[in-house]
Amino acid sequence: MESMWFLVQNNEILPIIDKCSSFLKLQGVLAWCVRFKEKNPLQITTGNLTVAELCTALLCLVRKVQTVYFTTEIWCIERGQQLPDSINLLTLSPFSDERKILCVGGRLRHSNIPAEQKDPMLIPNNHLICDLIIKHYHFSYLHTGAEASLANIRTKFWIVNGRSKVKRVIKQCIKCLKVKVKAKGKNQMMADLPSARVSIARVFNKVGLDFCGPFLIKLIPGSAKKVYKCYICIFVCFVVRAIHLEIVSNLSIEAVLVKGEDNSKLLNWNLAKIVEVHPGTDDITRVVTLKTGKGVYKRPVTKIVKLPFNCN
Ligand SMILES: [Zn+2]
Repeated sequence: MESMWFLVQNNEILPIIDKCSSFLKLQGVLAWCVRFKEKNPLQITTGNLTVAELCTALLCLVRKVQTVYFTTEIWCIERGQQLPDSINLLTLSPFSDERKILCVGGRLRHSNIPAEQKDPMLIPNNHLICDLIIKHYHFSYLHTGAEASLANIRTKFWIVNGRSKVKRVIKQCIKCLKVKVKAKGKNQMMADLPSARVSIARVFNKVGLDFCGPFLIKLIPGSAKKVYKCYICIFVCFVVRAIHLEIVSNLSIEAVLVKGEDNSKLLNWNLAKIVEVHPGTDDITRVVTLKTGKGVYKRPVTKIVKLPFNCN
């Protein structure tokens, strides 16, 4: 306890930062120091840290870091002098607020956003606190990218030349690295295409199969209330990538291999007479013209079934 008291009394905050791996932990340690400094350490030793104590600790921390890293700027601003042109903070219009914290000026004075967002606290990019802040926001927002992390940080802090610094710190994040390594693996060279994909063949001679659905259909259009569940079987030609869709009653192999005109039972199919055949160039007939009681239709031979008895 004595050593902590001594640290705060002498403003020896910077060595504490070097020993902390987390921004929240650092803030907590300093908040405890602040509690001991401002109150009787013999009386106040228990109880959770308050928001006010954490805020005071943060201001104490930022103020100390700024005093060390922005000495010239603070000296000029306190005396109302113009900052030298050589100082790269000139474009940020820095000013010292009532808490003696160096903040970024700007043109948002009339905005209704929170004050700390309007005038974020300046943070040097070459001190460990900068790394801790970047990691804190990067982790808190579930490993966001550089731009998102920077935007989140700027709601409270302004890191000098922050973009490159944020990128550098995020590059060292182990979790992000693992994800990137995994993603790189996806870009490996693909194996040779199978012969079915690269050999010339008739359309739909070799196909791939997939399903989508389920869908609800009415077999009788109009006011019929009964609906049936169905799926769509997608045939993709390996050679020319043509697509053919078929309605099937379920996802079983039988439903795909038994070619049905619809989802109704075979017994309910319409009786028809073949009135014309349409052979292809190879003399193989794949399409026929049918005459049913409702009209004349063209149908693939796979959609017709020969009656299981001899008409003669
Ligand atoms: Zn990460």
